[in-house]
Amino acid sequence: MSGDELSAPRPAGAPRHSLTVSVLAAAAEHTDCTFSNLALAGRVNLEQLFGGTRYEPGTGADPLAIKRGRLFEEILKKDDYAELLNLLYEQDAAMGAFGADARIARLRDIPVSSGRSGLELRAAATRVELGKIARKAWDAPTLIDGAVIRARIAGEIAYFEADGLAAASNGALHVVEAKSFPLIDGRCDPVKLGAACVQAGLYAGLVRAQLREDGLPGETVSDTGFIVLPKNTRLGRAVLLRQNLTFHIRRAERLLSLASLDVGAVERIHDHPFPSEKTVAAERIDALSHLMDQAGTQYRPECLEHCAAAKLCRERAYRAGRVALLGDQVRRELTGIDTLPRVLELAGGAEALESEQDSARELVRARRMYRRALKEARP
Ligand code: SF4
Repeated sequence: MSGDELSAPRPAGAPRHSLTVSVLAAAAEHTDCTFSNLALAGRVNLEQLFGGTRYEPGTGADPLAIKRGRLFEEILKKDDYAELLNLLYEQDAAMGAFGADARIARLRDIPVSSGRSGLELRAAATRVELGKIARKAWDAPTLIDGAVIRARIAGEIAYFEADGLAAASNGALHVVEAKSFPLIDGRCDPVKLGAACVQAGLYAGLVRAQLREDGLPGETVSDTGFIVLPKNTRLGRAVLLRQNLTFHIRRAERLLSLASLDVGAVERIHDHPFPSEKTVAAERIDALSHLMDQAGTQYRPECLEHCAAAKLCRERAYRAGRVALLGDQVRRELTGIDTLPRVLELAGGAEALESEQDSARELVRARRMYRRALKEARP
């Protein structure tokens, strides 16, 4: 079975979602978790699957924030992208020439012909425009409006709509990601900026994969992406931040290669597919818990921000006393040790496995110091 043919077991009843860049971006935070990879590959909608159970995830995106985002995009697109093009011109000296004769490829205007979806047609047109940029054609676009990238995820075709892709006339393509959180006095929310970079990295990874599939150099996509934000809380003026996306692109490429999902894990869980959302809540949770055992998870506190399964995973981690509950730093300091009861055993002098020896030495030393300090503190 080749990676491209592989797909996660999925009964007809398991709720599905369409693959969007936000879904991919969330999954990009957990590429080491096989359960999460299987859910992604099977397009299983975990939010819905946990709905109505005591592990139901919190509410989704704030509708006001969505409205603000749409408004900001409209401002950027007004008068043929005048605001965004102005910001790109300012990059000229450092980034190449965006030029005064900007050409915008308007892919949203493509008429939908019978038998083919709008996304399919836009994806084909995006390929043509990307080819022009990579070949440095005279009519290469400065901006692609309504770009759609086609990708094969775990054997199925998915279409991803980009906010905008910008290209300099020197043949380098820069991903543009517009977000509506403000930059005030040169500062913005670092968590939101990080999330925007994750998304931009994913677009870059998708475009590179598309170019390579077409026999063109993936390196046409620059490691430098542009995040466009409102200047101050009012949306009227925008500012462009140049961001190095090298790390995010590398991680996105790793995620996208999950088309070659762990065959062993798929086979292990073949008899225990994702349950239907119609299954009684308690049985659904039992089935999901069983799947987690079979596939494997890598819980850490950050999961709570990105994964709909996090509340169940956290409880399972508590029950098992997993070291991962204490966060990445502690996990690194206790390398090789999986659970807190084992930490206590080793600190008390239990014989360590080879993989536990470095951490065990430190634990014994720490315990000795602690006991000495207690003794000295006694009156
Ligand atoms: S919450 Fe659980 S299933 Fe989700 S990514 Fe984390 S470890 Fe994996």
